Amino acid sequence: MRPLSAKIAGVVESATIAISNKAKAMQRSGTDVISLSIGEPDFDTPRHIKDACIDALNRGETHYAPSNGIPELTKAISEKIVMDNRFPCTPGQVLVACGAKDAIYEACEAVLNPGDETILLTPAWVSYEPCVQIAGGKVVKHAVNQKTFQLDDTVLEKVTKKTKMIIVNSPSNPSGAVFDMKSMELVADLCTDHDLYAISDEIYEKMIYGKEHISLASLGDMAQRTITINGFSKAYAMTGWRLGYAVAPQPIINEMSKVQQHSVSQATTFAMWGAVAALRGDQRCVEQMRTEFDRRRKYIISELHAMGYETAPADGAFYAFVKVPGDDMDIASKWLEKGHVAVTPGSAFDAPGWIRISYAASMERLQEAMGRIKRVG
Ligand code: PMP
Repeated sequence: MRPLSAKIAGVVESATIAISNKAKAMQRSGTDVISLSIGEPDFDTPRHIKDACIDALNRGETHYAPSNGIPELTKAISEKIVMDNRFPCTPGQVLVACGAKDAIYEACEAVLNPGDETILLTPAWVSYEPCVQIAGGKVVKHAVNQKTFQLDDTVLEKVTKKTKMIIVNSPSNPSGAVFDMKSMELVADLCTDHDLYAISDEIYEKMIYGKEHISLASLGDMAQRTITINGFSKAYAMTGWRLGYAVAPQPIINEMSKVQQHSVSQATTFAMWGAVAALRGDQRCVEQMRTEFDRRRKYIISELHAMGYETAPADGAFYAFVKVPGDDMDIASKWLEKGHVAVTPGSAFDAPGWIRISYAASMERLQEAMGRIKRVG
């Protein structure tokens, strides 16, 4: 047989796979493994959102919809952007995709030519690099400061003639860090000075504890060059609905729309009605979930500090990012094999020597897990 695609062969499988496969095998054989490796809220989708989807199904919203999304949703998103994120947005500048991940992939396809470089700030979420690679681009990594997890001007050293884009994710998965104004302004200046595009993944914007979320597109001329990514998975506990969106200048949305039209066509019609209810409905559910995450965050960070671990500033998302003394893969394996606690080694995010612990599990399970980690050391 002839070799398969060299481009896809160059995409590595996530470093999380080995550990999560092992955890699943242990669970299947009856071991009580506590999974703190998941990136999804443990809450159910709020009732009024589910009801709006059920109503849509019952009234026959089961057919194709406009590729960029039903007008009710693109309008609700554009209004949310203007109000929450404070930059201009019309419904035509919105593209609803099958999850934020799909929107990120489509953005990479729309912007990058073969060989174009994208600066990726590390530690970084696992799918950015593959999305850039599949679109034919090349990732150039730049590690943020390992104490503050903010950006400094050493990032300028990574700019070459081929640099076309930068990816920013605040609040960050995996570090939980929230970029302050200085870091964001650095990104904005970099983009303006070197005529770069930016993907600003703001999916954790509602999971923030005592800091202010800054939307990159609200700074300077950034609305012209930023593709803002957001979605419903985290804020409204809707991971399985596969709904996310991109907001960008019209010419970029038009190119992303072509990718969407010829691949997935559109997001699921009746699911989009649930998203309308999420944005138009009472926002107290978001605050309730955030408050509960904050309670767990305080617990887990104080436990980790009491055990002598250093952590990244846990100002956002729902992850504790922990510095470990030794090889992160070995320590994650030990916690799994001896303590039956599954976590994600930092190597998966280009941060060897760190471990990501998700606190999107119940308080009882978190307490049990911390006890086990303490026991195995
Ligand atoms: N961006 C980040 C930083 C994420 O952590 C995730 C989910 N783990 C996504 C995007 C993708 O979210 P969605 O479920 O909307 O595809």
